[in-house]
Formats: sequence, structure tokens, C-alpha cells
Amino acid sequence: MKELRKPDWLKSKKLGAKKTREIIKKLRKYNLHTVCENAGCPNQGECFENGTATFMILGETCTRNCTFCAIDKNKNKLQQPDSNEPKAIAELSKELGLKHIVITTVTRDDLPDGGASQFIEVIKQIRKICRKDVSIELLISDFNGDLEMVEKVVKTAPDVLNHNVETVPRLYSTVRPMADFQRSLNVLHKARQSSTRILAKSGFMVGLGETKEEVLNLMESLRKVGVDIVTIGQYIAPSQNHHPVIEYIHPNVFDFFKEEGLKMGFEIVESAPLVRSSFHAEKARKILFKRS
Ligand code: SF4
Repeated sequence: MKELRKPDWLKSKKLGAKKTREIIKKLRKYNLHTVCENAGCPNQGECFENGTATFMILGETCTRNCTFCAIDKNKNKLQQPDSNEPKAIAELSKELGLKHIVITTVTRDDLPDGGASQFIEVIKQIRKICRKDVSIELLISDFNGDLEMVEKVVKTAPDVLNHNVETVPRLYSTVRPMADFQRSLNVLHKARQSSTRILAKSGFMVGLGETKEEVLNLMESLRKVGVDIVTIGQYIAPSQNHHPVIEYIHPNVFDFFKEEGLKMGFEIVESAPLVRSSFHAEKARKILFKRS
């Protein structure tokens, strides 16, 4: 398939280069990683400037094979969870004065609890060490459908529970072959049911071959299980070996999805070509403060 030319609206503003260098230096000191670097996110400078960083726990190797994703999938490199990681994240977050901390992970189907206990330990350490008003957002895997693990994590009191559905159900077999759309919806539903104060969040990409109608149906499905925040961004292929970009969606269409999403009742809809899962994640703080 011929590669499509990237439109001008996908050029990101180069913000926060100094802050990015400073944070990356500190990450290495603590032996930590951010998904911002690993996934080559176009917004990392802006997020770092806004006092947000997305830490990636449980290593840099994933047990799944999503065809859009740049994360390493060499299972020979899988390592046991690092017991120093939770405290290191909390200490670095304190040092950086982060206001909103996002924790994400690769999918660890090889671990009996899917990595849930590491999430729990990270939350405990952050609550112990960091500023009292810090908000915590978790971007979890589906824990292989183990809803008890979802509940356990939610009960440790993160502020936002995010699980991305990534694309419309019809494209799962080619985009997320080892995932299951209904299983992901169940995870979000369980999170919503397990706590009244938590904000449930999900996100997906467009440009993978979905139709507008499929996108609206997907958003309706997310609302039905109680999702409060949705992020919608343009898929950009990390290399020629990844799923091709089928279409560059015009910014007007993103605006249309935003309007429709707000009508459906989402509290926040981040919809624009360069939106990624944690982009403007700190906006959730405003809703949390209003609720408390
Ligand atoms: S599960 Fe997540 S980290 Fe793993 S391949 Fe898929 S998108 Fe990438």
C-alpha cells in the first residue's frame, strides 16, 4: 500500500525541550521510563511543561502484538517486576513537583495478577511520599479479563482509571489481535461500579479504516458503561512494518466527534489529530476538585 503524505496539521509544536532533557536525565538516575519516550509521543514536551508525566511500569516489553504499537514485543526480554519501582516513581514525582501523575504499563499476561499488585504498590507509595493534592491516573491493561484485579486496583483509590479501547470493534482482529472489545468494556464498567468518586476514561485512534458511524457507536458503548472522559487522536504509523495509516482525518471531523461526545454526556472529550491518551490529562483535576 502506498504511504499517505502527512498533512500539515500533524506537525506538533516543539515545546519544552529544556524541561524534557531535564526530566529524561532524572528518569535515568532512577532507572525509570516514560511511555512518552518509548512510544515517541509528539506532545511530551508540552506534558512535561504542564507538570504531567506518564511513567511506564512493569518493564518495556509487552506480551501482546497490537499492530499499531511501537513497544518492544520480544518475550525473551520479559523481566520480573522491579520491587524498587513504586518508591522510585513516588520519589521522582516528588522531586519534579508533579501535580498529576499518570502510570501506564505494557500488558503482562505472563504474570498471575497481570501486574495489578505493582499498580497498587505505586499508588500507596505516591500517597505516602508526594504532595497531598496530587492526582493519580492509571492507564491499565485488561488484566486478562480478571475483574477482581480491576476492583482491587480501584479500591486503592486512584483518581482516574483509564483503559484504552484503541479502535472500533470491527478492527480488533487486525489492530489488537490478542485483545477483546467486550473484555475491555467489562474492565471499564467494573472500574465505574467499584467506586463512585473515580473518573473512568478511555481512548481510541482514528485513521485505521473505521467509519464515522462506527466511531459514534463506539462512543455510545463507552458512555453506556459509564466512561466520563474520552480521548480521540489520529493514528500515526511508527514504521512501515506497522499497521498502515488508512486515512488522515481532517480536524473538522475531530471537532464533530467532540461535539457529539459532549452531547452524549462525556465530561471531557479531547479530540484532535495530535491527542494522545495522556494529553491534557491534568484537566481531570478540575472535575475531581469540583466533586470533592
Ligand atoms: S497491549 Fe499495549 S503495549 Fe502491548 S502491544 Fe498492545 S498497545 Fe502496545
